[in-house]
Amino acid sequence: MTAHSPKPADHQTSARPKLDAARVDRQRPLVQPWPQAGSIGTTLLGPIGSGDGIYVTDEAGRKLMDGPAGMWCVNVGHRRAELADAMRDQAMALSYSSPWYTTSAPSLQLAERLAAHAPGDLDHVFFTTGGSSAVETALRFMQFSNNVRGRPEKKIIVSRQGAYHGSTYLSASLNGRPRDLNWMDSLSDKVVMLSCPNPFQRPSGMDEAQFADFLVDEFRQVIERVGAENIGAHVAEPIMASGGVIVPPAGYVKRMFELCRANDILYIADEVVTAFGRLGHVFASKDVFGIEPDMITFAKGVTSGYFPLGGVMISARLLEELRRSNHPEAMFAHGLTYSSHPIGCAVALKNLDILEDGLLEHARAISPYFQKSLKTLEELPLVGEVRGMGLMACVDCVADKVNRNPLALDVEVGKRIDAHCQERGLLVRPLINMCVISPPLIITEPEIDRMTEILSASIRQTMDDLTRDGLW
Ligand code: PMP
Repeated sequence: MTAHSPKPADHQTSARPKLDAARVDRQRPLVQPWPQAGSIGTTLLGPIGSGDGIYVTDEAGRKLMDGPAGMWCVNVGHRRAELADAMRDQAMALSYSSPWYTTSAPSLQLAERLAAHAPGDLDHVFFTTGGSSAVETALRFMQFSNNVRGRPEKKIIVSRQGAYHGSTYLSASLNGRPRDLNWMDSLSDKVVMLSCPNPFQRPSGMDEAQFADFLVDEFRQVIERVGAENIGAHVAEPIMASGGVIVPPAGYVKRMFELCRANDILYIADEVVTAFGRLGHVFASKDVFGIEPDMITFAKGVTSGYFPLGGVMISARLLEELRRSNHPEAMFAHGLTYSSHPIGCAVALKNLDILEDGLLEHARAISPYFQKSLKTLEELPLVGEVRGMGLMACVDCVADKVNRNPLALDVEVGKRIDAHCQERGLLVRPLINMCVISPPLIITEPEIDRMTEILSASIRQTMDDLTRDGLW
């Protein structure tokens, strides 16, 4: 079954001018991600010309704090000479070698170092080109493994409302944000969706502990209804990132993991955002949530965005099961020309050096200050909640603070706040009526203070705009 028909509630239209209209540049050959049909092929204003530390500078010469660290990825900050040198040195030594027939020193070394950091027996890695291809690889590996092991029906994937796992066909089919799915086909017959574990939007009358029980129970019921023999994997971001930095209720991640273990369902932790220091550790699954997943997908922070690279950590037990099957013909027919790219791996090694050399510690030490500072924004009437963990946070705006009633989607408060923040020197990532902040991990306390001041002034200005326009 595919989704063709739009759901009107998710496509509210009105006479209000599109916010992007003012920022749209002109038709250029470049098509950017996530374009609206009506403005496809036009670019948003403002090429970014340079970056340094936690700042980027746009074409007009405006210096902006990089609040979202690009796309949750520039973890060690911009303009790191060590990373530029690593890239250049590797390109001069060996720019490329086939991952099919050869290996390269950086890819072998990186695999070893990641295995040493990964929890449990996750001591193998398959490198990809980014996060979508990492999730796609993990899912295809699950399918392959179950085919080889003579249980081809065990393929259903359990995902969650609000999740984001990528933009390839299978990975995108796991996405749970309605606005993303409505106009795209998806492999919905392969996926079962659970509720979003967002405590802020939990059913009324439930406390957080009861909400956790409700969520776990829902998964248990799905397993009973669909049958564990038909479910191959549960894929979950430890903290949903693009869904609005959803920090699930206490104990939830571990209990979901245990349900998977008890039912022979693979637990795939999608750590594309949460790994490489965002939560203060190389991987967050064990160190933060106390679980040892069967696979962990990663990308982004592995190279701090300096080079496209991702991968899947895979459990030795899973590989051993395949080896034991000793199937004479079965082949994991899956690979990417740029798997294990030597330049990407060389950059990742240097990036890991920087993280290990005090930056993970710094991220852990400064996170409470970051969260506490942003939390003060909850005083503002437009802000329903500020939530987060480590160095990722979300300002969630509401129509009515007491009842937590949402704002209409096309008010797009996130974009309004972002525009005002930019006037004051800060970039944030707008997500409909939310703003996401996930700065480079090198951020300092005075810079956090400045970020919060700018956000506060910009949210106040947005409240005035909304009142003036009768939208709030
Ligand atoms: N998983 C998660 C949790 C993500 O946040 C993203 C990207 N934002 C992806 C997968 C896809 O990664 P990519 O854009 O590198 O393909």
